[in-house]
Amino acid sequence: MKDYNSILNQLKATGSYRQLPAVTHHGYRIEKEGQTMLNLSSNDYLGLASRSDLQKAFLEEWKEQEYPFSSSSSRLLTGNFTVYTELEQLLAERFNREAALLFNSGYHANTGILPALADKQTVILADKLVHASIIDGILLSGVPFQRYRHNDYNHLETLLKRFAGECEQLFIVTESIFSMDGDIADLRRLVELKKTYPNVVLYVDEAHAIGVRGKNGLGIAEEQGCIADIDLLVGTFGKALASMGAYVICDRTIREYLVNYMRPLIFSTALPPFQIAWTRFIFERLPDFTPLRERLAQTSHLLAEALEGKGGEISESHIIPYIIGENTDCILKTEELQRKGFYCLPVRPPTVPKGTSRIRFSLTADVTVTDIQQLIQSL
Ligand code: PMP
Repeated sequence: MKDYNSILNQLKATGSYRQLPAVTHHGYRIEKEGQTMLNLSSNDYLGLASRSDLQKAFLEEWKEQEYPFSSSSSRLLTGNFTVYTELEQLLAERFNREAALLFNSGYHANTGILPALADKQTVILADKLVHASIIDGILLSGVPFQRYRHNDYNHLETLLKRFAGECEQLFIVTESIFSMDGDIADLRRLVELKKTYPNVVLYVDEAHAIGVRGKNGLGIAEEQGCIADIDLLVGTFGKALASMGAYVICDRTIREYLVNYMRPLIFSTALPPFQIAWTRFIFERLPDFTPLRERLAQTSHLLAEALEGKGGEISESHIIPYIIGENTDCILKTEELQRKGFYCLPVRPPTVPKGTSRIRFSLTADVTVTDIQQLIQSL
């Protein structure tokens, strides 16, 4: 066997070693090694995951139906409980599109959709900063791909021009809110480009935007008014929706094709019906959470303004990076903030480019203006 231990020791020496943190959650506070801190590293963007009122109401509803705690099978075998199709219909209705399909996680979605749809006659053009799960999906698909400079649509257009005549179809792949920088793709511009060139398929991952943005919480595509023009609109339930799993909004034919060709869907046990029922319970109520979205926007703006000029662009979302540079400096700053009661985490290469190690603040609707003012003082 290889000397894995010495590789781990190298990671420790360069400040790249990762550990599973032992933490206990108390709403928007988090406890680590006996110290209670303000949680500034949560993906529970609307603060719904700790809402006992919602949990109790859901359990009351659940008593009527008693959805099982396991699906015991892939949906293609015996696991296709009606609650899956009910949630898919609700999604399709709310997004006002033909169809939706559920997956076990965003990771499953991003590693499954591209390999199913892209073949040898396809070229994939992806934003330089797309999430690791999308990169893995691209690599698994085995088709030629190019990365365009982050949110640089002139560069993208150069690539579109170059490849348009050379392949049967082109995929443009982006996130809407970028997970590590918190900046936002111009989806309308991408739709425009998609319509200018032949056979372009637009794939957008809204993992960090669903629930948080848009009048009804349907994401940046809703905010920018282009839901109808995005071929594959992916989102996840594990963040603002306080659940687990993912979806794609698409046309009926694409849904059918994925059911036939998407390996993570076909060969994995489906999520527990109980979980899907909880997701539906939350998703149904999404339009009601506007006050939470407004509060989150207010605190996010406050922190983003305070961090303006600290290494990155001013964030336009609730994900706010504080770029420090070197790994060790980033870890020291994180430890200092944790000692002061702010639970934040360092994000280092390979998750982000070398030399851009950062503290990634991700705010929730529970964080108050006073909390942010105290954080700004400590920074
Ligand atoms: N897409 C993006 C942009 C993400 O940030 C993440 C996870 N952080 C995922 C997909 C994966 O989603 P999941 O956690 O549901 O696997």
